[in-house]
Amino acid sequence: MSSRLATHAQGKVFVDEVFDAVAAVGRATAQHGKENVINATIGSLCDEQEKLVLLPTVERVFRDLGSDDIAGYASVRGFPEYLTAAIDQTFKNSKPDAYIEAVATSGGTGAIHNFIWNYSNIGDAVLTHDWHWQPYTVLCSDIMRRLESFTFFDDKQKFHIESFASKVRELIAKQDNLVIILNTPNHNPTGYSITDAEWDQIIAVINQNATGQKTIALLADIAYIDYATDPNQCRTFMKKFDTLSPNVFAAFAFSMSKGFTLYGQRMGALIGVSKDKQAIDEFVNAAVITCRTRWSNLSRAAMRTLAGIYKDKTLLEQVDQERRQYAALLQQRADLFVTEAKAAGLKFLPYTAGFFITIPTDNPVAVSNILRESNIYVVPMAKGIRIAVCAVPVNKIRGLAVKVAEAFNKA
Ligand code: PLP
Repeated sequence: MSSRLATHAQGKVFVDEVFDAVAAVGRATAQHGKENVINATIGSLCDEQEKLVLLPTVERVFRDLGSDDIAGYASVRGFPEYLTAAIDQTFKNSKPDAYIEAVATSGGTGAIHNFIWNYSNIGDAVLTHDWHWQPYTVLCSDIMRRLESFTFFDDKQKFHIESFASKVRELIAKQDNLVIILNTPNHNPTGYSITDAEWDQIIAVINQNATGQKTIALLADIAYIDYATDPNQCRTFMKKFDTLSPNVFAAFAFSMSKGFTLYGQRMGALIGVSKDKQAIDEFVNAAVITCRTRWSNLSRAAMRTLAGIYKDKTLLEQVDQERRQYAALLQQRADLFVTEAKAAGLKFLPYTAGFFITIPTDNPVAVSNILRESNIYVVPMAKGIRIAVCAVPVNKIRGLAVKVAEAFNKA
């Protein structure tokens, strides 16, 4: 008998890229003891004892919530205090001179889904960089779009503007709407941050191509922004968004997962930016309907937590300070890996900050399997291996790059 599923739902199989690695880590830990296993697979921040970090002030505000806020429904669009806090946290000193409106979403993932759904047509290509967070692919295919990519890095390991421009031209020639997703700063899986000068070039390309009937919708996925070394400098590019042409709609995918360490609460926001009042109004209308139909409304507790932190300057400063300490720890781990990798002649993708460092290879599975023989667990991706420096304590980072280099030589 043929499938009972509707045509669009047939043939789908969920592949969890990290599942196999996580299961293998569990077995190795049981057999050899935690101290003898390096688990560089986890995409969450862990402390030096390898315990998941929950920022103490975030935890306190969350645990102090009353029963109404734990059990009650929230509004479909999200509480105004939450949305204002999400906007302030996103832009800090770098608000573009434009209308800015937000809707609450189920994490950054929900923001990305909401944006693709409302700014591309069925059958359209959506454009992103070749190195990207894998779920972008299924976020597109599940709603009958397809992900296409440009080459992220040129031979100087900088943003490949020619590849970007030629792919934008190619796609916009074939379709009227083009969604572009750029994950920066502190990109997953490389750690790269697009520079302000590169943003100028990107915006010029977008403005040149969004003319006449053609519209471009640009989404900045800023999931890892709060782990930048300088919270103001990493946001200066945002100010440039008021120079986008009227045929461009821009948005930011805000997430409380990494910045507020509340991954499981599934809280985020899609934040639209436009000089055009009509464009921002239609954004809110369409995006709120998507919220209503996908998840109805979201965690009231998580929204109240962010709103509560933003209501009290002292709390906000405490959260910032606690996060800064962890960001410094992350940087220390990454610096150590980078220094040792350079000494060992290991070529990694350009890292600015963030949770991961990636080493390109044509043999990711072979390298990963060789590392497993030494109880080192990484995530093999299509064209490289990903090391989650966010999860590995400094004492286990020491010597890791040398072992990875040896595995590369063997493979
Ligand atoms: N974007 C990137 C690049 C990510 O790595 C993630 C999570 O890992 C997200 C977005 C979305 O995270 P969440 O849905 O938990 O906010």
